[in-house]
Amino acid sequence: EGDPRLKAIKEAIRVVPHFPKPGIMFQDITTLLLDHKAFKHTVDIFVDRYRNMRIDVVAGCEARGFMFGPPIALAIGAKFVPLRKPRKLPGEVISEAYTLEYGTDCLEIHVGAVQTGERAIVIDDLVATGGTLCAAIRLLERVGAEVVECACVIGLPEIQYYFSAYSHDRPTRVLNP
Ligand code: AMP
Repeated sequence: EGDPRLKAIKEAIRVVPHFPKPGIMFQDITTLLLDHKAFKHTVDIFVDRYRNMRIDVVAGCEARGFMFGPPIALAIGAKFVPLRKPRKLPGEVISEAYTLEYGTDCLEIHVGAVQTGERAIVIDDLVATGGTLCAAIRLLERVGAEVVECACVIGLPEIQYYFSAYSHDRPTRVLNP
């Protein structure tokens, strides 16, 4: 994109080979959180995009969507809604299972957190297969939200194609610094 902020963001993300298992290039955003300028640039880029899009809900995927979602929600005047792993939310929930490389996982949302017709974005740190984002989209649509877009800091490029197909071409914004 030619945005000079992207260089600082890229430099702040640590890549750890073979974590948590052989062959995985782990994108560690905890080092981005340590660099207040690069972290702020990251939030600012999303805020610039969403501030005039009448977004009511910023939904963050556990756990790293919880780090980027709240500052974006505060800045654009939206509510933050955590999409959590099973058995973490104390109220009434609905659940969506999704497939992982081995087995399945699940995200849950509190019933009543989002109202029918509200405009939502989904935030996570990284999209790989898109399974997590798609579960988030399904949850939000089941409670009547309009999912405007998904937003991630990093998109693993080789599987973007699969994500497009899987998500029915839901607009997804990846910074890809
Ligand atoms: P997926 O559901 O396949 O799109 O995987 C995305 C989720 O898994 C995100 O919540 C990421 O935090 C995590 N994830 C997958 N691959 C990586 C990776 N290489 N580095 C860091 N996190 C990853």
